[in-house]
Amino acid sequence: MALRGTNQELGRPYNRRIVLETIRLEAPIARGDIARKVGLTVQTVSTIIRELEERGFVKGSREAPKGRGLPRTTLTLDPEGGFAIGLHATPIGVGAALVNLAGDIVGSRYHAFAPVSPDETFAVFETLIDEMRALRPGGRMLGIGVAMPGPTDVDSMSFVGPTTLEGWKGVPVVERLTAATGLPAFCGTEPSAAALGERLYGLGRDLSSFYYLYVGVGFGGAMVHGGSVLLGAHGNAGEIGHIPIVPDGDLCPCGNRGCLERYVSQEALDRRLKAIDPSARVETALEQHPKIVDTWIAETAPVLRRAIATIENLFDPDGIVISGFVPEALLERLFAATEPLMHSVAERSGRTSPRLLLSTEGKDAVMRGSASLAISAALSPRFGLLFAGEEERTERDPIMTGPTKKEVAA
Ligand SMILES: [Zn+2]
Repeated sequence: MALRGTNQELGRPYNRRIVLETIRLEAPIARGDIARKVGLTVQTVSTIIRELEERGFVKGSREAPKGRGLPRTTLTLDPEGGFAIGLHATPIGVGAALVNLAGDIVGSRYHAFAPVSPDETFAVFETLIDEMRALRPGGRMLGIGVAMPGPTDVDSMSFVGPTTLEGWKGVPVVERLTAATGLPAFCGTEPSAAALGERLYGLGRDLSSFYYLYVGVGFGGAMVHGGSVLLGAHGNAGEIGHIPIVPDGDLCPCGNRGCLERYVSQEALDRRLKAIDPSARVETALEQHPKIVDTWIAETAPVLRRAIATIENLFDPDGIVISGFVPEALLERLFAATEPLMHSVAERSGRTSPRLLLSTEGKDAVMRGSASLAISAALSPRFGLLFAGEEERTERDPIMTGPTKKEVAA
């Protein structure tokens, strides 16, 4: 999507974000190039850049001299210009990361536990949030994003069964996080947050269209097209875990038989391990119970292959990225077991890129993605506040609140 600025003064908060977004996507980039790209005058862009520099969001640097004349000054985001906290809630633990404006993880922590109540989980969240904030005590905190198992708002599937947060139905997660921290909070599903993280900072940077398969405690996915995660009408598009793919297969807590998630998920392996050795753990399964893992892979591979062909036929992506929360060695085994892939529209002539790609950054992708829900909400041109009244916008525009760099230094 081409971003275009507006030359009406009323559009200043919008223009700031257009300029910031252009720098984020195209850096290093010179003022004149930004002006040309977004259709604003160089003067307007320069005024905005000055504001953004004062607030510490962007920084300029001189290029190495080439021939005669003054070398150009190009602009990049200042990674330390702002931070967001990405949270990840699963039925077997929670993670938190402090993520900077450039998407780098400044620090992260994972806290494993047996399934606990929302209240106990929020207590852990608050401890983790304090720890993350302490990594940059003076830093500008833009917000908090939290990724939770999907799908959302489906009576038979949400908060039902061991792959979900049972007992969380009706918990006002976003409101509670904001009340506890004073920061704006945002919520997404694990696969959609991870797909966003992969799109912004991972393999997705080189793919205009890809499907992200997420092997977590459960199983899900999201389609990324034209740079955006397709959420569908209710945020559940691409949630494939409950596709009943095996006729008369295992009974699923949702009421169907043969759902994908009953086979391809960390919970599925855990169930098979515990049936034989109640003390067995997924993390050590490859060393301690290699036979059970082999059997699981053999049973799961044909199901996964069918899922892959189905996704390719439905979405025609550039490729499918397989990733997730599951231990890396197991993910690699699953990835290898997808060969030979089934026939699908992905076998087009002239294909040069692989149909399936492995990303081992799944855990980080979830937290980077959930943090970027907050970063995008504050900085992106698609920010909801743009549709509020101008007065309210200037007052609440998080880009313009807080002290400038000079004021901080003084
Ligand atoms: Zn199901």
